[in-house]
Amino acid sequence: MESEDLRLAVYRAFAGTGRAPSGVDLANELGVTPAEIECGLRDLHNARHLVLSEDGEIVMAHPFSAVPLGFSVMGRETLWWGGCSWDAFALPHLLPAEGEVLVATRCPACSRPHAWNVGATAPPPGDQVAHFLVPAARMWDDVVHTCRHQRIFCSRQCVADWAGGHGVQPGYVTDLATLWRFASRWYEGRMDRGYVRRDPGTAAEYMRSSGLSGPFWGL
Ligand SMILES: [Zn+2]
Ligand SMILES: [Zn+2]
Repeated sequence: MESEDLRLAVYRAFAGTGRAPSGVDLANELGVTPAEIECGLRDLHNARHLVLSEDGEIVMAHPFSAVPLGFSVMGRETLWWGGCSWDAFALPHLLPAEGEVLVATRCPACSRPHAWNVGATAPPPGDQVAHFLVPAARMWDDVVHTCRHQRIFCSRQCVADWAGGHGVQPGYVTDLATLWRFASRWYEGRMDRGYVRRDPGTAAEYMRSSGLSGPFWGL
Protein backbone atom coordinates (compact mmCIF):
# COMPACT_ATOMS: atom_id res chain seq x y z
CA MET A 1 0.00 0.00 0.00
CA GLU A 2 1.31 3.40 -1.00
CA SER A 3 1.01 6.12 1.62
CA GLU A 4 -0.73 8.27 -0.98
CA ASP A 5 -3.41 5.58 -1.50
CA LEU A 6 -4.18 5.64 2.21
CA ARG A 7 -4.21 9.44 2.38
CA LEU A 8 -6.64 9.62 -0.54
CA ALA A 9 -8.89 6.93 0.99
CA VAL A 10 -9.12 8.96 4.21
CA TYR A 11 -9.93 12.14 2.28
CA ARG A 12 -12.52 10.43 0.07
CA ALA A 13 -14.28 9.02 3.14
CA PHE A 14 -14.38 12.40 4.87
CA ALA A 15 -15.57 14.16 1.72
CA GLY A 16 -18.27 11.61 0.99
CA THR A 17 -19.64 10.96 4.47
CA GLY A 18 -18.54 13.82 6.72
CA ARG A 19 -16.93 11.27 9.03
CA ALA A 20 -13.53 9.74 9.58
CA PRO A 21 -13.20 6.19 8.21
CA SER A 22 -12.45 3.38 10.66
CA GLY A 23 -9.25 1.36 10.41
CA VAL A 24 -11.31 -1.70 9.42
CA ASP A 25 -13.04 0.21 6.60
CA LEU A 26 -9.69 1.40 5.29
CA ALA A 27 -8.17 -2.09 5.52
CA ASN A 28 -11.10 -3.56 3.57
CA GLU A 29 -11.00 -0.85 0.93
CA LEU A 30 -7.25 -1.09 0.36
CA GLY A 31 -6.94 -4.86 0.80
CA VAL A 32 -4.36 -4.73 3.61
CA THR A 33 -4.33 -5.63 7.31
CA PRO A 34 -5.53 -3.28 10.07
CA ALA A 35 -1.95 -3.27 11.40
CA GLU A 36 -0.69 -1.91 8.07
CA ILE A 37 -3.37 0.77 8.20
CA GLU A 38 -2.35 1.69 11.74
CA CYS A 39 1.26 2.03 10.68
CA GLY A 40 0.33 3.98 7.53
CA LEU A 41 -1.86 6.40 9.48
CA ARG A 42 0.99 7.00 11.92
CA ASP A 43 3.28 7.92 8.99
CA LEU A 44 0.64 10.34 7.64
CA HIS A 45 0.28 11.83 11.12
CA ASN A 46 4.04 12.33 11.36
CA ALA A 47 4.02 14.01 7.94
CA ARG A 48 1.14 16.29 9.11
CA HIS A 49 -1.26 14.99 6.48
CA LEU A 50 -3.68 14.11 9.27
CA VAL A 51 -3.95 14.21 13.05
CA LEU A 52 -4.38 11.10 15.21
CA SER A 53 -5.58 10.94 18.80
CA GLU A 54 -3.39 9.21 21.37
CA ASP A 55 -5.30 5.97 20.75
CA GLY A 56 -4.77 6.19 16.98
CA GLU A 57 -8.21 7.48 15.91
CA ILE A 58 -8.32 10.06 13.10
CA VAL A 59 -9.17 13.43 14.64
CA MET A 60 -8.55 15.69 11.64
CA ALA A 61 -7.49 15.51 8.02
CA HIS A 62 -7.50 19.22 7.29
CA PRO A 63 -9.85 20.80 6.40
CA PHE A 64 -12.00 17.85 7.54
CA SER A 65 -12.52 17.15 11.22
CA ALA A 66 -13.95 14.21 13.15
CA VAL A 67 -14.58 16.40 16.19
CA PRO A 68 -16.55 19.64 16.65
CA LEU A 69 -14.37 22.76 16.65
CA GLY A 70 -17.09 25.41 16.54
CA PHE A 71 -18.39 25.11 12.96
CA SER A 72 -20.87 22.97 11.07
CA VAL A 73 -20.90 22.84 7.26
CA MET A 74 -24.04 21.56 5.57
CA GLY A 75 -24.02 20.45 1.96
CA ARG A 76 -26.86 19.07 -0.14
CA GLU A 77 -26.92 15.70 1.61
CA THR A 78 -23.86 15.69 3.86
CA LEU A 79 -23.05 17.38 7.15
CA TRP A 80 -19.41 18.04 8.04
CA TRP A 81 -17.71 19.34 11.14
CA GLY A 82 -16.18 22.50 9.77
CA GLY A 83 -12.86 22.35 11.61
CA CYS A 84 -11.90 25.98 12.29
CA SER A 85 -13.06 29.07 10.38
CA TRP A 86 -10.22 28.63 7.87
CA ASP A 87 -11.18 24.97 7.30
CA ALA A 88 -14.93 25.65 7.16
CA PHE A 89 -14.44 28.34 4.52
CA ALA A 90 -12.07 26.03 2.60
CA LEU A 91 -14.54 23.13 2.29
CA PRO A 92 -16.59 24.47 -0.67
CA HIS A 93 -13.32 24.84 -2.60
CA LEU A 94 -12.53 21.14 -2.12
CA LEU A 95 -16.13 20.01 -2.75
CA PRO A 96 -17.02 21.73 -6.03
CA ALA A 97 -20.08 19.51 -6.66
CA GLU A 98 -21.72 21.01 -3.57
CA GLY A 99 -21.89 24.57 -4.86
CA GLU A 100 -22.56 26.73 -1.81
CA VAL A 101 -22.50 25.12 1.63
CA LEU A 102 -24.10 26.49 4.79
CA VAL A 103 -21.44 27.39 7.36
CA ALA A 104 -22.80 28.01 10.86
CA THR A 105 -21.21 28.95 14.17
CA ARG A 106 -21.72 30.91 17.39
CA CYS A 107 -19.71 33.92 18.49
CA PRO A 108 -17.44 32.57 21.26
CA ALA A 109 -17.88 35.81 23.24
CA CYS A 110 -21.66 36.37 23.21
CA SER A 111 -23.09 33.16 21.63
CA ARG A 112 -24.86 35.07 18.86
CA PRO A 113 -25.53 32.65 15.97
CA HIS A 114 -23.97 33.37 12.57
CA ALA A 115 -24.44 31.56 9.27
CA TRP A 116 -23.36 32.11 5.67
CA ASN A 117 -23.80 30.42 2.32
CA VAL A 118 -20.18 29.94 1.28
CA GLY A 119 -19.17 29.00 -2.26
CA ALA A 120 -16.03 28.95 -4.35
CA THR A 121 -16.64 32.04 -6.50
CA ALA A 122 -16.90 34.98 -4.08
CA PRO A 123 -16.65 35.66 -0.36
CA PRO A 124 -19.93 35.70 1.57
CA PRO A 125 -21.24 39.08 2.73
CA GLY A 126 -21.00 39.88 6.44
CA ASP A 127 -19.30 42.28 8.83
CA GLN A 128 -18.18 39.62 11.31
CA VAL A 129 -14.46 39.12 11.95
CA ALA A 130 -12.19 36.06 12.02
CA HIS A 131 -9.79 35.75 14.95
CA PHE A 132 -6.61 33.61 14.91
CA LEU A 133 -5.04 33.07 18.32
CA VAL A 134 -1.88 31.07 17.52
CA PRO A 135 0.79 32.61 15.23
CA ALA A 136 1.55 30.78 11.97
CA ALA A 137 4.96 29.51 13.10
CA ARG A 138 3.38 27.80 16.15
CA MET A 139 0.18 26.45 14.56
CA TRP A 140 1.37 22.83 14.45
CA ASP A 141 2.64 22.75 18.04
CA ASP A 142 -0.88 21.59 18.98
CA VAL A 143 -2.93 21.89 15.83
CA VAL A 144 -6.25 20.85 17.39
CA HIS A 145 -5.86 23.61 20.00
CA THR A 146 -4.94 26.00 17.17
CA CYS A 147 -8.01 25.11 15.10
CA ARG A 148 -10.22 25.32 18.19
CA HIS A 149 -9.12 28.96 18.52
CA GLN A 150 -9.65 30.08 14.92
CA ARG A 151 -13.21 31.33 15.28
CA ILE A 152 -15.56 33.97 13.91
CA PHE A 153 -16.82 36.71 16.22
CA CYS A 154 -19.50 39.40 15.83
CA SER A 155 -16.94 42.20 16.01
CA ARG A 156 -13.52 43.27 17.26
CA GLN A 157 -15.26 44.18 20.51
CA CYS A 158 -16.41 40.57 20.96
CA VAL A 159 -12.82 39.38 20.29
CA ALA A 160 -11.56 41.79 22.98
CA ASP A 161 -14.27 40.66 25.43
CA TRP A 162 -13.46 36.98 24.82
CA ALA A 163 -9.68 37.48 25.15
CA GLY A 164 -10.11 39.54 28.34
CA GLY A 165 -12.38 36.88 29.82
CA HIS A 166 -9.83 34.17 29.05
CA GLY A 167 -6.78 36.13 30.18
CA VAL A 168 -5.11 35.94 26.75
CA GLN A 169 -3.84 38.56 24.31
CA PRO A 170 -5.92 38.77 21.12
CA GLY A 171 -4.15 37.31 18.09
CA TYR A 172 -4.79 38.35 14.48
CA VAL A 173 -8.19 39.72 13.39
CA THR A 174 -9.34 39.99 9.79
CA ASP A 175 -12.55 40.34 7.80
CA LEU A 176 -14.57 37.56 6.14
CA ALA A 177 -13.40 38.42 2.63
CA THR A 178 -9.76 37.97 3.63
CA LEU A 179 -10.59 34.73 5.47
CA TRP A 180 -12.34 33.41 2.37
CA ARG A 181 -9.51 34.40 0.02
CA PHE A 182 -6.92 32.92 2.33
CA ALA A 183 -8.93 29.67 2.70
CA SER A 184 -9.70 29.37 -1.00
CA ARG A 185 -6.44 27.89 -2.33
CA TRP A 186 -4.74 26.73 0.86
CA TYR A 187 -5.83 23.10 0.46
CA GLU A 188 -5.73 23.09 -3.36
CA GLY A 189 -4.91 19.64 -4.71
CA ARG A 190 -5.53 17.86 -1.42
CA MET A 191 -8.16 15.57 -2.96
CA ASP A 192 -5.75 14.63 -5.77
CA ARG A 193 -2.85 12.19 -6.03
CA GLY A 194 0.60 13.65 -5.55
CA TYR A 195 -0.49 16.44 -3.24
CA VAL A 196 2.33 18.47 -1.69
CA ARG A 197 1.26 20.16 1.55
CA ARG A 198 2.00 23.67 2.69
CA ASP A 199 2.99 24.52 6.24
CA PRO A 200 1.62 27.75 7.75
CA GLY A 201 5.04 28.58 9.22
CA THR A 202 6.77 28.59 5.81
CA ALA A 203 4.13 29.87 3.40
CA ALA A 204 4.89 33.58 3.50
CA GLU A 205 4.24 34.14 -0.20
CA TYR A 206 0.81 32.51 -0.06
CA MET A 207 -0.08 34.46 3.09
CA ARG A 208 1.01 37.74 1.55
CA SER A 209 -0.88 37.12 -1.69
CA SER A 210 -4.03 36.40 0.34
CA GLY A 211 -3.91 39.84 1.93
CA LEU A 212 -2.46 38.86 5.32
CA SER A 213 0.32 40.87 6.90
CA GLY A 214 2.59 41.17 9.91
CA PRO A 215 4.83 38.96 12.04
CA PHE A 216 1.83 36.84 13.11
CA TRP A 217 1.95 35.31 9.59
CA GLY A 218 5.74 35.31 9.35
CA LEU A 219 5.71 38.46 7.17
ZN1 LIG B 1 -20.41 38.31 19.75
ZN1 LIG C 1 -8.15 24.56 11.19
